[in-house]
Amino acid sequence: MRQQIKLLTQLQEIDRHIQRLEKEIDTVPEEIITLRESIKQGENSCEEIGEKLEDMDKDRRHKERELSVKEASLSKYQSQLYEVKTNKEYSALMLEIDSLKQEHSEWENEILAMMERAEELRKMVGRRKEELEKEREKLAEEEKKNQERVSILKEELRKRQEEREEGAKKIEAKLLAYYEKILKGKSGLALVPVNAEACQGCFTKLPPQVINEIMQARRMIICERCSRILYLPDTEEGTDSAG
Ligand SMILES: [Zn+2]
Repeated sequence: MRQQIKLLTQLQEIDRHIQRLEKEIDTVPEEIITLRESIKQGENSCEEIGEKLEDMDKDRRHKERELSVKEASLSKYQSQLYEVKTNKEYSALMLEIDSLKQEHSEWENEILAMMERAEELRKMVGRRKEELEKEREKLAEEEKKNQERVSILKEELRKRQEEREEGAKKIEAKLLAYYEKILKGKSGLALVPVNAEACQGCFTKLPPQVINEIMQARRMIICERCSRILYLPDTEEGTDSAG
């Protein structure tokens, strides 16, 4: 049993290595996550600004149509100036014309301001789109790097899995089956050392009789509390008494 346990600890080492590799393969690098988020945000904000620009353009076209209506009434009033008979009528018409001119120039200014705002936004979108393009290139680069990293890890994983297969062949079927069953439920630790007379899986103190049995290593001893297979680490097993 001592030899079997030793082989099993080696197998567990390989299994833990395999688990680490699998976890690493599944982990997407922080840089890629950040870039993906940033690109998504950038696309959303470009889309939002695009919609806003459309609204602004619609607004401006509406104002421009209104302006030409004002221009038409202005020229109508101006032609009426030649037809008025009295000073009073003339003054009233001039007042009307002045107020229309005032309105006209206000609207013109407003339309100009709208065009400027739209132009600024268009430039902003342009800059953001350039940035996005760079971010997309960077993402493609990072993803390529990641793929290379993953394929190296997968090769390593393949080797470890072969190693594991070889290692598993040397272990008694019953012991291996029990080990594998526990491994699934105990997050990668099915075989634990005894230290200071306690199981190192659940830290329960073990009775002397159990410790004795483990030392004799005649059969597989499991922790009654956590069901893990117990063993004595090498130092307690031989070197201490030999030295
Ligand atoms: Zn335990």
